[in-house]
Amino acid sequence: MFDYHVHTEFSVDCKVPMADSCRAAIAAGITEIAFTDHVEHQPADLGYGYYRPDDYFRELEKVRAEFGDRLTILAGAEVDFHLETADEVAKFIDRYADRYDFIIGSVHYASGGEIIFPEHFDGRTLDEVFLPYFDQIQAAVETGWFNVIGHLDIPKRYLPRTHRTYNPVVYRERLQPIFKAMIEKGVGFEINTSGLRQAPKTSMPGPAIVRWYAEAGGTLITTGTDSHSAQTVGSGVAKTLDMLELCGITSVASFRGRKSTLVPIAELRPAASET
Ligand SMILES: [Zn+2]
Ligand SMILES: [Zn+2]
Repeated sequence: MFDYHVHTEFSVDCKVPMADSCRAAIAAGITEIAFTDHVEHQPADLGYGYYRPDDYFRELEKVRAEFGDRLTILAGAEVDFHLETADEVAKFIDRYADRYDFIIGSVHYASGGEIIFPEHFDGRTLDEVFLPYFDQIQAAVETGWFNVIGHLDIPKRYLPRTHRTYNPVVYRERLQPIFKAMIEKGVGFEINTSGLRQAPKTSMPGPAIVRWYAEAGGTLITTGTDSHSAQTVGSGVAKTLDMLELCGITSVASFRGRKSTLVPIAELRPAASET
């Protein structure tokens, strides 16, 4: 099984050394891990300027030397994207993309630099949050800079009580051009299992969106826990493989040097029983 979204001490909101997550991954039956630290582009973000690529790659070499015989360790990044900061993102991609196996593009901010947290919903309808958000996702896909889109429907994670009636079916039509652009550009999305551990109690995205993507002809999906602690590395991945199969997805993507291959889910299941 693969965990393609793990943060380390190179993210401002995480203190976990890579070695701890490697040990946890091996114990959880993970065979490939991608360390995807935040590369922030919003000046207001606490993590702006925090990421140090050279130190990150040095540490990656160390854990590869120690754990590489038991675990495939990939160079990854979770790159924050917004049209307002796209020039900065472009510079990062130009300079560093070739050094990575796998790059997630994630939208964390709305226009004007307001982070998509519960307060962002104050005085707004669901459409006023989701539609501009999906416009940013569409733009991120169309750049072709990213291998996958992170937590595709993340605003649902922050839905205040007043909006708990959220049903993704209202965005089914809006998602179609996003899927089309994804397929044309060779960009996929991840199943981010952190939603299973948090308020949505479902992955981001959940089964409905996966099914519509599969119906649109999409096949490029990765699995990631978005772990900020070693304890959650691998959590929910086995369950996600079951979900994907039920939704008509038969493979999960593996990346090397930013190129994907699809690995049949049947080959990924752990030999021993796993929760
Ligand atoms: Zn994120
Ligand atoms: Zn993340």
